[in-house]
Parts: sequence; C-alpha cells; structure tokens
Amino acid sequence: MATPTDEGRFARHRLIPGWNQDRLSAATVVVVGAGALGNAVVQALALAGVGRLLVCDPDVVAVSNLSRCPLFLPSDVGRPKAETVARALSRLAPDTATSARVAPLVSGVGLAELRDADLVVSCLDSRAARVELATRCNLASATMLDGGTHEWGGQVSVHPPGGRCWACGHDRSSLFVPDSPHSCAAPVRTLPEGASAPVSLLVGAWLANYAVRLLLGLPVGSRLLRVDAAGGAVPVAGRSLAEHPDPGCPLHERIEDADVTRLPLSARDTVGELLLRVDADEEPLTWTGFREAGSVRSPLATGTRLRAASPDTRLARLGVAPREILTVMHPRTSGLRYVELTGETAAAAEVGR
Ligand SMILES: [Zn+2]
Repeated sequence: MATPTDEGRFARHRLIPGWNQDRLSAATVVVVGAGALGNAVVQALALAGVGRLLVCDPDVVAVSNLSRCPLFLPSDVGRPKAETVARALSRLAPDTATSARVAPLVSGVGLAELRDADLVVSCLDSRAARVELATRCNLASATMLDGGTHEWGGQVSVHPPGGRCWACGHDRSSLFVPDSPHSCAAPVRTLPEGASAPVSLLVGAWLANYAVRLLLGLPVGSRLLRVDAAGGAVPVAGRSLAEHPDPGCPLHERIEDADVTRLPLSARDTVGELLLRVDADEEPLTWTGFREAGSVRSPLATGTRLRAASPDTRLARLGVAPREILTVMHPRTSGLRYVELTGETAAAAEVGR
C-alpha cells in the first residue's frame, strides 16, 4: 500500500501511460553481477520503485570499478560488491528491499528463488557465467534478461521460459570452452577489454527499461537490441519473443513442478537432517562440487554426493544456495526427482554462514 510519501515520490510515474507503481512495488528482480552494468540496472530499478532486489556477486570492489559504478565510493574498495550495492540502495531508495548474496551464482541464489522471481537480469561478463545462469533459468522456468557491453556499445536480449535461451544458436563446440573468469581485482593484463561509464550506463539504462516494461507487462518490441554508442543510433534487430528454441541447444532441461517435493529445511540445516527426509537408497546431489569428508585424494578432487559429506555439515557450507532445489537420484533406476528447501525466507537467508 502506497504511503503519502510514496505518492509524492512516484507522482511523475503515475502520469506515464501503462505505468503501474503497485505492480513494480510487488515485483522481485534477481540481478546477477554487481559490476558496472549491475550498478546501472539496480540503481534505475530501485528508483523506479521495484519492491525487492536480490543482488548476487562474489567479488569485492576494485579501484578500477570506481570509474563506472555510481553506487561505489573510494572507501568501498575491498568490500563485497553485492553488500555495497545493497547499502547504497538503502539510502537511495529506502522502500526497496535489497538482499545481498556474496557468493557465486550457484551458491548464492536458489532455483526456487529464480523460479519465484518476476525477472532475472544477467549483468555478467563471461560466456561461462551466462551459460550457467541460462542453465539455471531454464531449470527454473525463469525469464532471463541479458545485457553485455563492449568498448563502444553493447546488447540486450530477452529469453522467456520455453523460448530461445541465451545459448540457443551459439556454436555448441565453443559453448562449454571456459573463457577467462572475470575479476575486477585481477591484474590489468587479464581484463578482457576497455569499458567506460557512458557505455555501461547507456546499456544499463536499456536493460532497466526492458526490465520495467517486462514487469509492467508492456511489449519490448524486439527480443534482441543492439546498442551502437559510436554511431549514435540504436538499431533494433527484428527478433520476437515468440521465436522458437534451438532444437540443438543442450541447455533445455526443466524441472517439472510435479517432480518437486517441498521440505521444511533450509540451507542452514545439516546434511544429516536432509538425509533423514529421503529414502535410504536415494542419492541427493549438490549443483556444485565439494571436497568429500575425510578425502585423501587431491585437494582439487570434488564430489556432489551429499552422502559423502559429514552429516553434521551445514548445507550452505557445501555451496547449497538458499531456497535451492536439489536433485535426488535413484541409483538403481537412474530416475530423478527433486527436493526444494522451503524452510527459510529469502530475505533472511545469509550465504555461507
Ligand atoms: Zn537454448
């Protein structure tokens, strides 16, 4: 319910045809990546009155971020990006609740959170990270809105569930070749390419505008938008949201609701508590690898079988995200089912504790 202050704050929004402030204030948007694009997007979405943002990024603020990230101050260098963004937004737009996840995507945002979000915005800067996010959005039937920049431009693309995902049409042989994982704290020689505030803010503004229109149920015109910051033009490729998925795309696995059992457990609960809730011959798996308890193998050797972990270990310690949906395999039949951790509210979830 809007307060008198809200009425004043959003008075100019209410004059915009098609705008619905209540719809935005009820919306939840997951933003993956809190770098230059992420800063621009969350700033615009919070100012637009989006009710809840969930921001995931494992990195800390580096000095080189300060030229492009309006929410970072010099005193923030060394602090986690996601928490810094959440703190800045609490001053800028106090009515927007921002949840910071200082973790890689797979450990930071559970599949049930992706499923329940109104939109997932990708502000990532590597192919590998986008493949991972597209895989999880497909599993969770979530809409992924992706943005990317280059020196003098960028692009925005929309991937609704059941349609073309981010990987559709990509050459399969290159899709799973790891590209350099980006870290702003990395030495300059590993940075992929130049970047500037005008281009990041320009592409970020397009991303935020697409996000708001999607949240309001308004058409966005084209599934793919190319931004040319050198020519001063914004050419729009004629691609529609109704385009069919690429039948050769390997990422289109989807979790069906009927296959999910909801458990009153959270990522703060232990492996032993989870094992009590599945059959003795079932094998619950994590999405990310962890070192097995008492392993004498190489420190790099990892597994995903929760039965291999110590029963008193908290699931979060093994990289299980809040509100995660875990795969449970039946070794004899190779059949799969899923269990959802429902025992925590996303707002209260803290990662890795
Ligand atoms: Zn695809």
